[in-house]
Amino acid sequence: NMQVILKKYVTGFPKESDMQLMNSWMKLSVAEGLNDAVLVKNLYLSCDPYMRSRMTKNEGSYVQSFTPGSPITGYGVAKVVDSANPKFKKDDLVWGMTGWEEYTLITATESLFKIQHTNDVPLSYYTGILGMPGMTAYAGFNELCAPKKGENVFISAASGAVGQLVGQLAKLMGCYVVGSAGSKVKVDLLKNKFGFDEAFNYKEEKDLTAALKRRFPNGIDIYFENVGGKMLDAVLLNMREHGRIAVCGMISQYNLEQPEGIHNLMYLIVKRLRMQGFLVFDYYHLYPKYLEMVLPHIKEGKIAYVEDTATGLEQAPSALIGLFSGRNVGKQVVVVAPE
Ligand code: NDP
Repeated sequence: NMQVILKKYVTGFPKESDMQLMNSWMKLSVAEGLNDAVLVKNLYLSCDPYMRSRMTKNEGSYVQSFTPGSPITGYGVAKVVDSANPKFKKDDLVWGMTGWEEYTLITATESLFKIQHTNDVPLSYYTGILGMPGMTAYAGFNELCAPKKGENVFISAASGAVGQLVGQLAKLMGCYVVGSAGSKVKVDLLKNKFGFDEAFNYKEEKDLTAALKRRFPNGIDIYFENVGGKMLDAVLLNMREHGRIAVCGMISQYNLEQPEGIHNLMYLIVKRLRMQGFLVFDYYHLYPKYLEMVLPHIKEGKIAYVEDTATGLEQAPSALIGLFSGRNVGKQVVVVAPE
């Protein structure tokens, strides 16, 4: 059973050498007294920015640290090969928490979702638009921001797993949508594939406040925050009165020893803004409703989804660290085994 092991806790930017590919000879069996366990064959693994915080020894975070010397765990799509759990049977397809390895014995089965797979959507989408990042976009935008037609929406890290969907959900609501991303290829995707009204490369803008002012002369009603830092400061100056900021993530801060300070928080008062953080876990009860909404849009071609796939477990470490330099174009997936 090939596995990706975290060698030791990480400081600063993670490196490929913080992880190691190893073979485990331990036999995995559902019959080892572990009630309700399922043994799965992993097909696709999801690379997600929050995994960085699990690479550090962090008490008090909302997610547990990885254990050095053990396989990394994360979201994935898998096929059941054996089950002691009445809810799952052999050959069922599932998504949820699994291991970065070929086969995983899953004991925390309450967080596994069974996939009703039809061949008109790629199975790998359950690592992205049909899985955790999709639910994140939906919960943070549709539920938290309560968008209205005609509102001005700004999204950072807009071409990523979450951002590309937020923008398209906003277009479906009839909003004016602008996204920022870190390369020309990504900016082109935003404008030409995902239908954003405007997009810009934040790395090429010396003055982010002015860059936003040009795209939002009347201000921003909704900011979907994925990056934090300087972008947040610039956005605060460009928000409209009574605007909403959904704080989904702050990836620009995840590798810093000392987070950057935010200078313009006073504008929360002046502009009567609502800024709210959220965690997708609190919204999974809405998953069936979300699937019912999003699946027809995908099948009818009204929502596009771009993935960046790395093939083979041995590519997983570089795929994961690539998130923090923006190497991924779209949702970063690792293909472990062909379906
Ligand atoms: P992405 O697919 O967007 O990948 C990460 C992207 O972040 C990179 O491609 C890069 O894009 C951008 N990035 C990396 N470093 C920086 C930086 N220093 N400054 C600005 N941008 C940077 O990831 P996801 O869509 O999966 O996640 C997006 C955000 O949502 C993250 O902050 C994540 O932590 C958060 N999240 C929160 C959840 C919740 O429950 N609250 C659940 C899931 C995700 P670029 O080239 O454009 O810079």
